[in-house]
Amino acid sequence: MKWSCLHTHTNFCDGKADIETMCETAYAKGFESIGFSSHAPILKKTGIRTKSSIKEKRLDEYIDRVLKARKYWNGKLSVYLGLEVDYVHGLCGPADADIQALPLDYIIGAVHFCSLPKKNEFFSVDESPENFRLGLEQFDNDGYAFCEAYYNIYNNMINAGAYDILAHLDLIKKNNDLFRFFTPGDSRYTGLLKKTVNLIAAARTDAEKNGVSVPVVEVNTGGMNRGYSSEPYPSRDTLKLLAEQNVPLVLSADAHTPDQLGKNYEAAMKEMKEAGYTGMAFFAGRREGKAVWQEEALAI
Ligand SMILES: [Zn+2]
Ligand SMILES: [Zn+2]
Repeated sequence: MKWSCLHTHTNFCDGKADIETMCETAYAKGFESIGFSSHAPILKKTGIRTKSSIKEKRLDEYIDRVLKARKYWNGKLSVYLGLEVDYVHGLCGPADADIQALPLDYIIGAVHFCSLPKKNEFFSVDESPENFRLGLEQFDNDGYAFCEAYYNIYNNMINAGAYDILAHLDLIKKNNDLFRFFTPGDSRYTGLLKKTVNLIAAARTDAEKNGVSVPVVEVNTGGMNRGYSSEPYPSRDTLKLLAEQNVPLVLSADAHTPDQLGKNYEAAMKEMKEAGYTGMAFFAGRREGKAVWQEEALAI
């Protein structure tokens, strides 16, 4: 199996190591490739202040450094330039002209922010448990209403297009082990997932028809790697729904430190296999404006 991680953060955003160290580690671990995916800047477009995003003024430097690393590692390790782009409904997303103008190999579309029903502000579902509880209170502690609000935004991102990878599909569950605000098997929750997976399948068909990049879904071990979750994003039930619709999966670690590169990949592949997958998507670069994916057998 060819090892890779396209979802990698560095000290340009909320990662802990620099680009060069992450490349060295990926190479030492026998990776075929590594892709960098700093959180795109959002402050100007949304007014949301977050320490996670790369600063607007450092974006060019980030691009430069990744392209330099690509040159340096040429022939040993494929280095790709990406961004994890937040979709904040009505304010920003992967389809934005300034994002599309960048020389990116791929875009990871992600939803971290939900608008709060009682306040004119946004809330990240990726927050600490204390802050997460405050967000949940805004939905009168109705976990299903909260999930519905989250997936509505995710669905809007799917429909808006212009991404290559859909990030951590069920990130909303991050604090569910702690607060149990929804039951994963409850039809009020599974119904939301079914709708979202159907939209992904439809978006793939449309992209194919329109000759644009056909998106894949990531299996992300970030929650496991940082101790929030005992399973990858998305859960096995959702992976089964994706398998039924033949949606390819790309495996990533959402690595914020060198040791997280490739961490929990075996566990994630086991989940993929249990869900009915025999292979996964391996990124082979961008050609004519489209991400190129190759099928790789699961190493399990
Ligand atoms: Zn993310
Ligand atoms: Zn990330």
